[in-house]
Amino acid sequence: MQNPSVYSTIVLNISLETGFDMEPLERLKTLTSQMELESAEDYHCPQARRGNNYPGFVHNAVLPNGKTIALLKTLLTSACERDCHYCPFRAGRNFRRAALKPDEMAASFMAFHRAGIVQGLFLSSGLVGGGLKTQDRLLDTAEILRKKLGFSGYLHLKIMPGAEFDQVERAMQLADRVSLNLEAPNVERLKILAPHKVFEDELLQPMKWISEIRANKNSLRGWKNSWPSSATQFVVGGAGESDAEILSTTEYLYRVLGLKRAYYSPFKPVEDTPLENMPATMLQRENRLYQASFLLRDYGFIMEELLFDDTGNLSQDQDPKLSWAMRFLSDNPVEINEADKPVLLHVPGIGPKGVQSILEFRRTNRFKSPEDLRRIGINPNRATPFLLFNGKKAAQQLSFAL
Ligand code: SF4
Repeated sequence: MQNPSVYSTIVLNISLETGFDMEPLERLKTLTSQMELESAEDYHCPQARRGNNYPGFVHNAVLPNGKTIALLKTLLTSACERDCHYCPFRAGRNFRRAALKPDEMAASFMAFHRAGIVQGLFLSSGLVGGGLKTQDRLLDTAEILRKKLGFSGYLHLKIMPGAEFDQVERAMQLADRVSLNLEAPNVERLKILAPHKVFEDELLQPMKWISEIRANKNSLRGWKNSWPSSATQFVVGGAGESDAEILSTTEYLYRVLGLKRAYYSPFKPVEDTPLENMPATMLQRENRLYQASFLLRDYGFIMEELLFDDTGNLSQDQDPKLSWAMRFLSDNPVEINEADKPVLLHVPGIGPKGVQSILEFRRTNRFKSPEDLRRIGINPNRATPFLLFNGKKAAQQLSFAL
């Protein structure tokens, strides 16, 4: 949490300027600081961590459209009736709980929004009274924000385990992004992390509905004019799962359910939970999972092309795209003047934008050397060892960058 005096000064100023009751803002402070115990989603990006005047309270979040905004990431309540084995909010854990009612949350958020401190809201909740009732409270908050208080900014709403179809649809009408944390890649692994969550019925089914709603209904009856993107999060390393298990489910979510983004949250043991003695997951594992995940989502890779060791894990020492290229392209380099888009996307150092630039350049020119790549904005260092220029390897081999 930020320096308490900074928060108190903000709250006091808001209260003096608007006459807003300070007490709910104090509960919001508690909830927001507790939210930090759960791994973040929207701000997994170094650029999002910079330039924040209210660190701890406000997250600089990168939105699905690439824009960075000041996001309040918080909970309606940190009470929870479930007992997921990794979670700080699990029932029975000795932990100071707080809650805001939907109207209190909406008004408190708007006080900060109108003061120019936050532009968007990420809203989750512990489960109290079941998934349906909890989802209703989240939807009520969103309705108040959109309909009564005229908030038109970014809203990320969580879908609760066990939410119903109509609730999912309403959330999609109100929010810019909806997300439901799968936490584990399959039934067996979920049993270790959260034995009372039901993988298929409570978690996967609402995600299927998100996809179905998006596919079957072209226009919205709600106030927004496009469907929100969807996301999920996995806890990495808490259930002994392999990278292959996580990425296989990720591939299904991207290909079949149209998921926009899978987030990977490295497991951190929390005191007074059943997994408190498990080791924390190394950040490098998270990094490699993101690299592989982007290959599946944006680079046309399929699961069978990702290289895993005997335990089903990615190499921690090497970027998965470079691993693939070293095995399959080192002896079969790609002719840059002839290769099609899917082949170019498999070359290290060449991404979707780079491919567009290459195809454009080729309309009127031929690549003669790595310098031509540099001229169109592509650093040739990573790509050159895997390319031919008019049938020849570049004279000078440049070093690999991992
Ligand atoms: S349902 Fe959510 S908040 Fe509650 S214990 Fe499980 S992970 Fe934590």
